Amino acid sequence: MISEKMERLGRHRSVIREIFEYGNRRRAEIGAENVFDFSLGNPSVPAPREVNEVLLRLLTEEDSCSLHGYTSAAGDAGVRQAIADYITKTHNSPADASLIYLTVGAAAALAVSLRALLSDGGGDEVVVFVPYFPEYRVFIEAAGGRAVEVPVREGDFMIDPDRLAASLTEKTRAVIVNSPNNPTGTVLSEENIKELCAVLREAEEKFGHPIYLIADEPYRELVYGGVTVPYLPNCYPDTLVCYSFSKSLSIPGERIGYIAVSPEARDAEAVYAAVMGAGRALGYVCAPAIFQKMIPHLLGKTADLAVYQKNRDRLLTALSDYGYECVRPDGAFYLFVRALEEDAISFCERAKRHELLLVPSDGFGCTGYVRIAYCVTPEQIERALPAFRALAEEYKTEKNHG
Ligand code: PLP
Repeated sequence: MISEKMERLGRHRSVIREIFEYGNRRRAEIGAENVFDFSLGNPSVPAPREVNEVLLRLLTEEDSCSLHGYTSAAGDAGVRQAIADYITKTHNSPADASLIYLTVGAAAALAVSLRALLSDGGGDEVVVFVPYFPEYRVFIEAAGGRAVEVPVREGDFMIDPDRLAASLTEKTRAVIVNSPNNPTGTVLSEENIKELCAVLREAEEKFGHPIYLIADEPYRELVYGGVTVPYLPNCYPDTLVCYSFSKSLSIPGERIGYIAVSPEARDAEAVYAAVMGAGRALGYVCAPAIFQKMIPHLLGKTADLAVYQKNRDRLLTALSDYGYECVRPDGAFYLFVRALEEDAISFCERAKRHELLLVPSDGFGCTGYVRIAYCVTPEQIERALPAFRALAEEYKTEKNHG
């Protein structure tokens, strides 16, 4: 016998991967330049030059055994101290190296945090705001929990405090927040975060136990037009920050990130011990050693993210002109656009006929929208615009005749 749950997970690729694989086949058939693939959140700008410079320096200057060897399970002590200092300085927030845990990207940070927070008996609830990154459900269920879906507000994709309050129960252990957001690109405003924190504080009091906030932050630096991303532990101490260098440094394949348990969180030390235990139980051993050791040299550096803003502006203006309904996002590299028919899956099938690869919102927990990942070259956007226009025209013509 094998695990049916795991077999199902392994056999059913995520919708996003499915579309990406379709794109690979199509690229082989008609040429990459003729396929307009907006499916995957894979950064399109190169890593900053410092990444390769630091890597080369470490490879040539460091003792090979220590460079390639195991680090302590939580991560190299000096690296954790550098991260804690950076958090304190940048976010004006207390951070403690002994509460930092290096991970294999944000995905592992989330899986470990959830495994650490959910009780062994199962049945704990974790709130996710709809639309949400599909892997949340996978990680929550793997940790024995149940995802409770709470829709965000239509129109601006902010958290609806009343809906959140109504969804919290005795069994709620954690709430996952992702800002800047995948798939909407929304950056939660300071005011909205205050509303969120007030609801959570009230629920903690009512139920008499902590409700931890998991701040999923792989897009923290990807914000446009001077927008800032508040640091959640400053507003709500019971927070675990799950950070990743994947998108800010354009190194998603290198798999490096961390969990920072706020020193002001309730039972912070016990939470951290559970994080260590969860990492151990999941077999992580330690995060990739070389990339851990690169971090102190790269904190605060980013790839050249300006191209994403340029892409957002170009797409937003053009798509609005063609009649698509889009909310202007301030961050990440996604547009969440209303499909031109109710069924987003059939809309995406129609888009494929124009070689446009878009992701239907159904995989993110809601209907009627598509996600456009604009982490592509500006040239791809220019080449794709006539296809977006033709697709919109097709719907207009049908409406006029029907
Ligand atoms: N969380 C969100 C919202 C994401 O979009 C992603 C990746 O796309 C992740 C987590 C995982 O990121 P990482 O590459 O750091 O594991």
